[in-house]
Amino acid sequence: MSRFLNRQYESLEPYTPGEQPKTEGLIKLNTNENPYGPSPKVLEVLNQTEISKLMLYPDPEVSVLVQAIADYYQLETEQVMVGNGSDEILAFSFMAFQNENRDIYFPEPSYGFYKVYGDIFRAKCHPIPLKEDLSIDTKKYKNLQGTIIIANPGAPTGIALNLADIEDILKSNGSNLVIIDEAYIDFGAKSCVPFLQKYDNLLVVQTFSKSRSLAGARVGFAMGSRELISDLNRIKFSFNPYNLNRLSILAAAEAIKDDAYFQKTREAIIRTRQEIAEQMRALGFTVLPSSANFIFAKSDRLSGKEYFDGLRKRKILVRHFEKDPVSDFVRITIGKEDDMKELLNITRELLEAKDSKDLLERTEV
Ligand code: PMP
Repeated sequence: MSRFLNRQYESLEPYTPGEQPKTEGLIKLNTNENPYGPSPKVLEVLNQTEISKLMLYPDPEVSVLVQAIADYYQLETEQVMVGNGSDEILAFSFMAFQNENRDIYFPEPSYGFYKVYGDIFRAKCHPIPLKEDLSIDTKKYKNLQGTIIIANPGAPTGIALNLADIEDILKSNGSNLVIIDEAYIDFGAKSCVPFLQKYDNLLVVQTFSKSRSLAGARVGFAMGSRELISDLNRIKFSFNPYNLNRLSILAAAEAIKDDAYFQKTREAIIRTRQEIAEQMRALGFTVLPSSANFIFAKSDRLSGKEYFDGLRKRKILVRHFEKDPVSDFVRITIGKEDDMKELLNITRELLEAKDSKDLLERTEV
């Protein structure tokens, strides 16, 4: 820490991203990336001609992409804004709507950035514990005094909310902003975008990082009333007007237009998720009902840390959160079928090794 750091940030605990390994040969199931590459149309559009235009600034209005998203969701272009990943959209939202006089409520555990942004923008954070089954206790979000932010499907659980429960939250918080983070929405949950017609206190945030296979391009977007989007643009144009690079704009616009590829890849992921969940349950795992591109699972025989370490040693990377009530779980991104087969084989080996060790210890006693 230098002596120049703004005092306000001395105690800031930054978000810890999942490991991005520098070595080859690992099966990477830790950061919920899509195992299928971007749409072939994306590969076509990122050509030499476009690369040769990189000396020019990108369009600060990001018109091509905003239009493509508005068309996809049948919204006005004034209801859409794009950011450098949905992380930037969330940051702009906190910057626009939060301060020391406006509290923020979110499930705990949830996406780690909510608390980090709350801290940066000095909003008092109210983490609301999950229920015992790790689902969100929607009753606790009625008539609150501050902004609400909820990931649907939930992070890191993958559990989806009912739209009726979201609508109750929107209705009972008419004077609060409700942000629904739909990063994983395309893998089985229902989007609350249609509620935008009825509720002007709703902001929906989505990303191209998961179902559109563009995590490396860094593209996220917000959808809301014209007023909310105009507020977000006020922040963007005061902070970083060229927030999306030329190539990412083109890539994302092609990705959202290629519906056939989107459907094919997301269906493959959903299918693989169902298969792996079943097989893990057969091995004695508790697997939460997931509507995301990952599963959240715990073994009856290995601790979360033991399972994570065992997989890591055998070159499979998953995510483990060292905090209660989820420390027994690991989060496993849905990869291609072969990767999941390898995960299962190694899981069986780890369980067998654990059983032999237990047996040895019992005989020694
Ligand atoms: N929200 C949730 C719930 C997430 O899990 C993630 C991915 N880590 C994000 C937002 C941010 O995604 P991105 O910035 O890649 O759009």
